[in-house]
Amino acid sequence: MAEPGYLAVFGHEEIRERLARAAVLGRLPQSLLLHGTRGVGKQRLALWTATALVCRSDGERPCGTCRACRLSARLEHPDVNWFFPLPRPKRVSGAQQLREKLEDLRAAALAERRANLRYLDGEEGATGIYVGAVHTMRRLAQKAPAMGPAKVLIIGRAEALTPQLGSPEAANALLKLLEEPPADTTLILTSDVPGALLPTIRSRVQSVRIAPLPDERVAEFLAEQAGVPRREASRVAGRSAGSIGRALELLEGEQESLREGAIELTRALLDGRSLAQLAAAHRFRSFGARGSFARTLSETRSLLRDVVAVATGAPASDPEGLTAVGGDRVDDLARLIRLLDALDEARELADRNVNPQLIIANLSRLGRLGARGAPGTFPATEATE
Ligand SMILES: [Zn+2]
Repeated sequence: MAEPGYLAVFGHEEIRERLARAAVLGRLPQSLLLHGTRGVGKQRLALWTATALVCRSDGERPCGTCRACRLSARLEHPDVNWFFPLPRPKRVSGAQQLREKLEDLRAAALAERRANLRYLDGEEGATGIYVGAVHTMRRLAQKAPAMGPAKVLIIGRAEALTPQLGSPEAANALLKLLEEPPADTTLILTSDVPGALLPTIRSRVQSVRIAPLPDERVAEFLAEQAGVPRREASRVAGRSAGSIGRALELLEGEQESLREGAIELTRALLDGRSLAQLAAAHRFRSFGARGSFARTLSETRSLLRDVVAVATGAPASDPEGLTAVGGDRVDDLARLIRLLDALDEARELADRNVNPQLIIANLSRLGRLGARGAPGTFPATEATE
């Protein structure tokens, strides 16, 4: 079995079967709009459908193993062209230079997507599908397929086509393409805001709704393919609106706030006094979920381990984190070691579902004891500071 690459679509079995059957029978509309919630996998489905059109297998399509499928899975099939919003090119003059610059940007973005199968769409600054790209689409549509028998143009986040309004010539070229594509050409648009498409575009495409995945399927993906612990996976899936893309974004956002929390905790631990303030301010109430509090403690431990490394003359593994916690000027090694031990115990308590407030209060007590050079015991019995 070939490396599945971008052909690895998770879920959407029913709609895939419908699309593939239509493709094999030659009944797929030539101008198609896949719409559905953001991050649900529309562009991936568009690629998958495009591959069903170019696949050379006599059996099921896309077969995933023929040359066409393998090229397509790597985003290298010459007859499957994927367009999406890009940043507005700077310092270009003339239509030709604009086209070339846009193609360079698109090639670079595709290279990034090849390297990262879980790309999140909507990169910063990717603002539009510009006139130059529409000219390229038209040129590709007029060429004969390189490998035959079909060629496909995918236009992801097609609502970004609206800037064409400023160029009647490009708008007309696109409308003509959508209305009467060359016989060997299929256009697949995707959008999570189909209402934002120009009515002239919407009226020329056949709409297909891509339904959200059931929460259990999103959780299954997170657990099996993204290595997220089951309980965590279910929790995030429940907030994902049936979208794997959104679930991955949520996880990424949590990762950031988790690191911020860990940096704050490490600073407070090193300081001793502000740790009491931290506990008093109930900063960690938001970490009530056992999983994220425990992960904050683990992240805190690795930040602190770096402080220890530097105090003993070893290099830091995370120099950015070291600077953020002000750990490059700590020299009380004995106290640092005690803090590390205390964090290990705190982590065990968190795993046993002890209240985070109590764990922080205990850490706070130890932090101050340690600051005075006295040995800390952990866990302490007092519940509050
Ligand atoms: Zn194939």
